[in-house]
Amino acid sequence: MGVERDVLEVDILIVGAGPAGLACAYHLIKKAEQAGVEPPAVLVVEKGSHPGAHSLSGAVMDPRGIRQLIPDFVAQGMPYESEAGPDSMWYMSEKSHFKLPIIPPGMGNEGNYILSLNKFTGWLAEKTEAAGVEVYPGTGAFELLVEDGRTIGIQTVDMGHDKKGEPKGSFEPGTLIKANVTVLAEGVHGSLTKQARSKLSIFENSTAQAYLTGVKEVWEIPEGRLAEGEIIHTFGAPLPSHLYGGGFIYKMSGKMLSIGFAVGLNSPDPTNDPHRWFQRFKTHPSVRKILDGGEMLHYGAKTIPEGGYYAMPRLYDHNLLMIGDSAGFLNSLRLKGIHLAIESGIMAAETILEAAQKGAYGAETLSAMQTRFEKSPAKDELHKIRNYHQGFEGGLLSGMINYGFQFITGGRGLSDRKAVEPDYAHVKKFGDYFAGGKKPLPPMKFDGKLIFDKLTDVYKSNTKHEEDQPSHLVIADYDICNNRCTEEYGNPCQYFCPAQVYEMIENEDGSGTHLQLTPSNCVHCKTCDIADPYQIITWVVPEDGGGPNYENC
Ligand SMILES: Cc1cc2nc3c(=O)[nH]c(=O)nc-3n(C[C@H](O)[C@H](O)[C@H](O)COP(=O)(O)OP(=O)(O)OC[C@H]3O[C@@H](n4cnc5c(N)ncnc54)[C@H](O)[C@@H]3O)c2cc1C
Repeated sequence: MGVERDVLEVDILIVGAGPAGLACAYHLIKKAEQAGVEPPAVLVVEKGSHPGAHSLSGAVMDPRGIRQLIPDFVAQGMPYESEAGPDSMWYMSEKSHFKLPIIPPGMGNEGNYILSLNKFTGWLAEKTEAAGVEVYPGTGAFELLVEDGRTIGIQTVDMGHDKKGEPKGSFEPGTLIKANVTVLAEGVHGSLTKQARSKLSIFENSTAQAYLTGVKEVWEIPEGRLAEGEIIHTFGAPLPSHLYGGGFIYKMSGKMLSIGFAVGLNSPDPTNDPHRWFQRFKTHPSVRKILDGGEMLHYGAKTIPEGGYYAMPRLYDHNLLMIGDSAGFLNSLRLKGIHLAIESGIMAAETILEAAQKGAYGAETLSAMQTRFEKSPAKDELHKIRNYHQGFEGGLLSGMINYGFQFITGGRGLSDRKAVEPDYAHVKKFGDYFAGGKKPLPPMKFDGKLIFDKLTDVYKSNTKHEEDQPSHLVIADYDICNNRCTEEYGNPCQYFCPAQVYEMIENEDGSGTHLQLTPSNCVHCKTCDIADPYQIITWVVPEDGGGPNYENC
C-alpha cells in the first residue's frame, strides 16, 4: 500500500535558498508590491539546517545582480568582508611564480566585493522572510513531480527511516507540495535538476555540462601578509598542463583569508583527487609564505558548473523555471556565478508575475523567461565566453591560444559549440593511464599545520548527518564497485571524493577489497554523482537536513 502524504498547495515553489532562489522570492514580493498587485504565496524549501548552511563559494561578487535586487544593499547591511583590493594573476612554476603584468581582459575585479556566501545568503534569507516569503530549512526536495508533461511540484524527503530503510517510530512521510510554478534553484548538479534531465526535454539541445570540484579553507593568517581585499588567481603548478584548474586567494576582513583550488573533473587520471591538488597548492613556496604561522579555521568543497552557454537547458517548461547554477548561469572565465544567479532569479520573478496576471503558467507563457534572458546582460556575458572552458580540452597552452581567438572573434574562436563528452567519459582505465612505468602519486604526508587529511578538513566543515538513516549516496550495483571498477579503474571514488565518504577496505578473508561508505562525512559537493565512470552513484537528499554547516565560507 502506498504511503499517505500531506498535500500543500502554494502559488510559487522555489527549491533552494541560495542567491538564485532567494533573489527570485524577494523580487516576486517587492515587484508585486510596487505594481500594487496581490503578492503570490511563495514557499522556498532548503535542504540545509538554515539558509546559508550549505552555501560555499570563493567569493568575489560582482555587485551587478544585487544592485538590481536591492539598489542600496550596503545601506541595508549586506555583509561583506572587503571591497576588492589589489588584483593579480600568477602563473605558477614548480618553485616560483610569475605575476602577469596585466589582468587578462574580462577578468578584473575593480568595484567587486569579497564576501562569505553563507553569511550573504543568511542575510538575504532574513530579508526575504521579512518580505513575507515562507522559507522552510531542513526540507530537502526529493522528487520532481511531473504529470502529463507538466511539473506539478515536488515531494519532500521522507523523515525517519533507519539505516535499512525501515520506518522508525519518528517516521514522517514527505509532503507533496503543489504549485503553479516550480522554480529549480538547487545550485550545481541538483538532484531534481538531474531528474528533469530524464523526465522533461529541457536539456535536449544542450551540450554536456562540465564541472570542476572546488576545495577551500578559510585561514587566519598573521597580519601584513596581504593587503585588505587582495585578490590572487593562479594557474599552472601543481597541475600538469593537461589538467584544467587553478587556485584562488582572497583576503577577507581582519586576519581571515579564503584560499581554494578548483580542478576539472574531465581528467583522464583515475586517481584525480581535488583535495590533494589543493593540499599540494598550499605547499607551493609562494603560497606557503602567505599561510606560514596561520591557522586553518574552516573547510568546504563543492562542484562548479563550467560548461557555459551551450550547456544551459531551456530555462522554462510547463509550470517550471530553471535559475542559477541549476541552469548553468556561471561565468567560467571569471569564476563568478553569484551575480548571474541573482539576475536569473530576478528574470524568473518578472516572468512569473506576468504569467500570474494572465493566469497561465504553461510553457507558452513561461517562455518569456528565455526571451528575457536572451536580451539580458547575463546572456551577453555568457555568450562572449561560450567556448571558453571547451577551448582547454587540449591543455593549458592550446586553451590560452583558443581564448585569444575567442576574444577577438566575440567568443566564437576556432570552433563554435564544440561537442564535448561528459566529464566521467574522460577518465581512462587505470592500466591505460599508468602505462609505460608511470606511477600514481605516493600517499601524502599531512602535517596538521599546513596540509590536512580529508577527515580533519571534514571536521572543519561542521558536517553532521543523522547516522541511523539510509545512505543518501545510492549505489546501483556494489558488484561493479567491488570487482569491475577495482580491476578497470582502481576505484576513482576513493580519490575524487573530498570528504572521504568512499573507502576500499580489505575483505576479512583476504580475497580482495570492498567499498565502504561513510555518508555522514558527505559535504554535498556532488563530485561522486558526476565523476563516477559507470554512473552508478546517485546523490539524493538525506533525511535530516544534514550536511555541512559552513561558516565564513
Ligand atoms: C569553490 C567555489 C568558488 C566560487 N567562487 C566564486 C566567486 O568568487 N564569485 C562568484 O560570483 N561565484 C563563485 N562561485 C560560484 C557561486 O558560488 C555560484 O554560482 C552561486 O552560489 C550559485 O547560486 P545558486 O543560488 O544558483 O546556488 P547555490 O548557492 O548552490 O544554492 C543552492 C541552494 O539549494 C539548496 N538545495 C540544493 N538541492 C536541494 C534540494 N533538492 N532540496 C532543497 N534544497 C536544495 C542548497 O542546499 C543551496 O542552499 C564559486 C563556487 C565554488 C564552488
